[in-house]
Amino acid sequence: MIRSSVSIVRCKTYKTKEVELAVKRAVDLLGGMEKFVKAKSRVLIKPNLLSARTPEEGVDTHPEVIRAVARLVKPITPHIFVGDSPGGWELKEVDTVYEKSGTKKVCEEEGLQLVKFDKATDMEGFPIASIVKEVDSIISIPKLKTHSITTLTGAVKNMFGTVIGLAKAQCHLKAPMPDELSRLLVKIFALTKPTLSVMDGVVGMEGEGPGAGPLRDIGLVIASQDAVALDSVLAKIVGVNPSKVPTNLEASKRNEGISDLSRIDTFGEKPEDVRIKDFKLPKASFVYNLPKPLLRLGLKNIRFHPDINKDKCQRCELCFKICPNGAIKKLENGVFEINIKKCIYCFCCHEVCPHKAIALKKSLMARIIMR
Ligand code: SF4
Ligand code: SF4
Repeated sequence: MIRSSVSIVRCKTYKTKEVELAVKRAVDLLGGMEKFVKAKSRVLIKPNLLSARTPEEGVDTHPEVIRAVARLVKPITPHIFVGDSPGGWELKEVDTVYEKSGTKKVCEEEGLQLVKFDKATDMEGFPIASIVKEVDSIISIPKLKTHSITTLTGAVKNMFGTVIGLAKAQCHLKAPMPDELSRLLVKIFALTKPTLSVMDGVVGMEGEGPGAGPLRDIGLVIASQDAVALDSVLAKIVGVNPSKVPTNLEASKRNEGISDLSRIDTFGEKPEDVRIKDFKLPKASFVYNLPKPLLRLGLKNIRFHPDINKDKCQRCELCFKICPNGAIKKLENGVFEINIKKCIYCFCCHEVCPHKAIALKKSLMARIIMR
């Protein structure tokens, strides 16, 4: 029977040397970087860059993890590209994300080619960044965070960032429910499969992730050739049943990886020894974990809806631009307003708001049920 391997290594801070040693050990436990990258080949490093936030804000993959991965690849090949397609940002604005997240600086310091996902290749109907086809291998560096629809966002979902620009929002329009969205995410993952995933779990995000939750010291780097196995071990570490994460469920159904923990060998730390107690999940994931018949019947009433805090809003327009159903209106005084009748509850606006100005509010029924 096929098995997968996941390595777990402690890493308490983002000090360069500490991260470098932890990432090296995590990759060595899987057989070393030579196993995943061929000499003189072209490699894309794909971090998770959601938004223009500083490394201290914990929203994007930390630049020190990018540096540590790149330093393992550099002795094997000089052809290293780094890029992502941040949610809600138009191509001309991506520089801001690269700059603020520290990605640009680390690429300059390490001699890596920072690329924008400006050209797309149609892959089974998805506009995927052309560079995905132009490289020999992809190393994904997801960030450990929660997600209001998929509960957790990890190595499988990180590959959604290969869909260029605002096309990602259209995917949400086609697939608003967790199982629908997960089917789509896994399709994209299968088309863009990384050869290796190295998760930045040094500081993670709990609660209302992936953009607005509180940070939590996790102190781990987790790596695997099998992104689904990585996400499943991650789920166990934060106290979630791996099969309750819809991307794990869908990916293992499609044989895109292993989510059954009895078929995953862990190296380094044991998941039970690094278990994070009381890890807070997104409030909205409660609704999506209701039994399916109840969910279908009651979703109109038992739900969370986005709400803009006009005092916190900085009028950056990101939510307005990403909303896939035109539910966000710009009023004459520059204030933004959500037309809840048009909302499909994809939470893209909540995800991208860089000022935590969009809260997810419970409907009356959700308040009653969750009491
Ligand atoms: S709510 Fe957030 S994303 Fe929307 S315009 Fe205001 S600050 Fe920008
Ligand atoms: S307003 Fe509704 S439909 Fe628009 S981005 Fe926000 S959650 Fe999605």
